[in-house]
Amino acid sequence: MEHILDVLQRDTLTNSIYPVILMHDEKRPLSEFYYPHNPRRKVYWTEDSRAYWHVDSSFYKDSRIKPLKSEDAELKDTDWVAFYADAARKRGMLAGVEFSHTWVDKPRLRGEFQDCVQRDVYGKPSATQLCPNNPDTLVYARALYTELATRYDLDFIQTCFLGFAGAPSYRQKMTEVERLMRLPLGTCFCDSCRAAAEKQGLDWNAIVERIRRLAMGHDRYNAREAFELRLLLNSTTTASQLFVEMPEFYAWFRFRCDSYVRFWREIHTAAHAARPGIDVRFNDCWMYPEMLGFDLRGMSPYFDSIRAADYVEETGDPELMVAKRGFYHSIRRAVGLEKHFVTALSQRVRATPALIKETILMSAQCGADGTTIASYDTATPALLRAVREGFEEAGIEVTAPGRRG
Ligand SMILES: [Zn+2]
Repeated sequence: MEHILDVLQRDTLTNSIYPVILMHDEKRPLSEFYYPHNPRRKVYWTEDSRAYWHVDSSFYKDSRIKPLKSEDAELKDTDWVAFYADAARKRGMLAGVEFSHTWVDKPRLRGEFQDCVQRDVYGKPSATQLCPNNPDTLVYARALYTELATRYDLDFIQTCFLGFAGAPSYRQKMTEVERLMRLPLGTCFCDSCRAAAEKQGLDWNAIVERIRRLAMGHDRYNAREAFELRLLLNSTTTASQLFVEMPEFYAWFRFRCDSYVRFWREIHTAAHAARPGIDVRFNDCWMYPEMLGFDLRGMSPYFDSIRAADYVEETGDPELMVAKRGFYHSIRRAVGLEKHFVTALSQRVRATPALIKETILMSAQCGADGTTIASYDTATPALLRAVREGFEEAGIEVTAPGRRG
C-alpha cells in the first residue's frame, strides 16, 4: 500500500483516496485479457458484492438485508475502510469509500430478496438492481450510510448505485428518440413502484398499458406495435413530441426521476445525521443520467458533491472527448456553480497521455473543482505520469485538500 501511494503521489499528485467496498463481481483487468505487468497473477476475480469492512451488525437490526462478508482468505481479516482511512490520514489525504453499482450479491437477489429487485413491464426481475422504491432497500441504504459515517473517520461516501435498468450505453451512437424508446424494455414495475406512483396520484394502470405497448414494439412478431415503433424511428418526430402526445410516458419518465430524488434524500439525511460534515457524493457514471432516473438538479440538494465518472479515455477515441466536454457542462449547469464537482479519467492501457492531459485541461475549462483517476488496472507508468504532466503543462496547481478538496 505504501508503495502504491508513493507512486500515486509522485506521478499523479493524488491527494484523496477511496476503496470500493461493495460492488458486483467483475474480472480484473476489465478491458484486457491479462494484467500487463502483474508478477503474481494474470487475472483477478473479484467477489460479488462483499463488504470490505468489518460490519457491525447492530446497525442492521432493523434491516432485512445485511451486507455479506468477504470470504477471500487474503482480504477478509482486514477492515479495509479503517486501513485506507489510516493510510490517507498519515499522508494528509482525504479519505473516502465507495458503494458501487450493486449492494447485494446476485444469489441472494434471486433468492431471499427477490421481492426487492426491479422488474420490467412483463414482471421479469433484474439480476442486480434493488428497487429504490422498495421499503427494504431504503432501510438497508440508510443503514449502510449510517454505519460508515458513524464508525469511520471519512470525508466522503460516494456511490454509483445504478438507476432504473434499461437505458442503452451512452457510448452507443443513438438518437434521443431511440434512447427513449429503449426505456420501456427496462424497469421498474414492481409493487413498491405502483404504491409510490399511486401515492403521487398517478394512474399506474394507464402508465403500464402505455409502456407495455411500447415495449412490445421491440418484438417483430407483435406486428402492429412493431410497425408503430419502426414508423416512429423512421420519422422526424422529436423527443418533445413524444412527451406531448404520450402523457403517460412522460408521467413515467418523471416518476422514475422523483423516485431517485426521494431515495437520495433518505441517504443524505441518514448520513448527515450520523456525521454532520460528511460529503455524500453522487457518482454519475452515465452521460444521460435522466435515462436512468437521475434528475441531477432535483437531486442536488441531497448530495454534497458530484463526480462525473466517465472513462472514455480508455477507448483511445478522441472523437468521444467532444461528448465528454458536453457532459461536464451539463453537470455544472444542473448542479449550479457552488456545488463541489470533480471529473474522472481512466488510465487503462488504451488511453493515451494526450487524452489524459485533455481531460485535465477540459475539467478546469468546464468549472470542475478537481479530477479523479480511476481504473488504473492496466495503466502504464507513462499514463500515470501523464496526470502530473497534465496539471503542470496546463498550469493548474494541485492544492492541499481541505475537508473536501
Ligand atoms: Zn420498483
